[in-house]
Amino acid sequence: MTLIRPDLDTLPAYVPGRTVPGAIKLASNEVAEPPHPVVLEAIARAAAGGNRYPDLGVVELTDRLAEVHDLAPERIAVGCGSVTLCQQLVQISCLGPGDEVLFAWRSFEAYPIVTRIGGAEVRTVGLDDGFRHDLDAMAAAITDRTRLVFVCSPNNPTGPAVRREEFVQFLRTVPADVLVALDEAYAEYVTDPDAVHGRSLLDEHPNLVVLRTFSKAYRLAGLRVGYALASAGIAAALRKVAPPFGVNSLAQAGAIAALEHREEILAGCADVVAERDRVAAALRDLGFTVPDNQANFVWLPLGDRAAEFATHCSERKVIVRGFQPDGVRVTVSTPQENDLLLDVASSFPDQAG
Ligand code: PMP
Repeated sequence: MTLIRPDLDTLPAYVPGRTVPGAIKLASNEVAEPPHPVVLEAIARAAAGGNRYPDLGVVELTDRLAEVHDLAPERIAVGCGSVTLCQQLVQISCLGPGDEVLFAWRSFEAYPIVTRIGGAEVRTVGLDDGFRHDLDAMAAAITDRTRLVFVCSPNNPTGPAVRREEFVQFLRTVPADVLVALDEAYAEYVTDPDAVHGRSLLDEHPNLVVLRTFSKAYRLAGLRVGYALASAGIAAALRKVAPPFGVNSLAQAGAIAALEHREEILAGCADVVAERDRVAAALRDLGFTVPDNQANFVWLPLGDRAAEFATHCSERKVIVRGFQPDGVRVTVSTPQENDLLLDVASSFPDQAG
């Protein structure tokens, strides 16, 4: 025996987007604008009660989310960021070695990490030529050891959303005892009319879990609040394995206040979408290939030149996220920051190649 489980030695670390003093950060799909002022006030008020433990059951926030999504509160599990809920999903579905978690690749980099922390095996299926999920191939890759499937829509880091019809067809082929997690971290930015909206499929598919977050459109990445919409049974299981008091009182208060001002806050997504489309068009004009993007970032499939492009940008004080040897993900930000990115990209040699 060893003191620490030996498989942790080879566990890849979660790599956060770099923050470099004096540089602009387009590396973590955050929103540049600070939280709404009313949210800041709510957080400050909650901080004054910081000597007390938070509400363990996250009751008020759960009730508000129930109203927003027209779903019984029992069917909602709030977590400290949706990435923690991903980890909880592995915990509630996998018993250990041999159990498999399936997802497309490339996709959200936490999926392989939480799978391996949970002691399960990673199974991946490549994206198609348009950098979209190949759900037929994913359905074919399900084995009798598959316990959980992550489907990320829009896909981080490549951008396209999963089409509703394809997803419904996929759900029909997945065995009833396999969990399907539709990760909709960027749902508020989706403009594709054919894109799936997980909430509308929940009642018909008891093995479906929809993951949402306050980190992106609600501008609260630092507070760490995400939530799952699912059957009452799945939501209860997620709550069972959650770290006690994981959603702190500042986070609960901030998220509640954000929901009170939901329409106003989410209206800001339209600006991001307009900038996304402008940045994508400008990059295409420069000769870059830019796939369809439905979130608050664009994907440049630069292959093994990904690291070179990321370095080119960081040397010019723009931090982007390189995923060598596949591509580079650039977060869409304010018009000024986006212009800087475009300026830097325009001096990348032979960009079309
Ligand atoms: N899912 C996807 C697809 C993401 O891109 C992210 C954040 N990068 C998350 C989940 C996690 O979000 P959070 O833990 O901040 O809620």
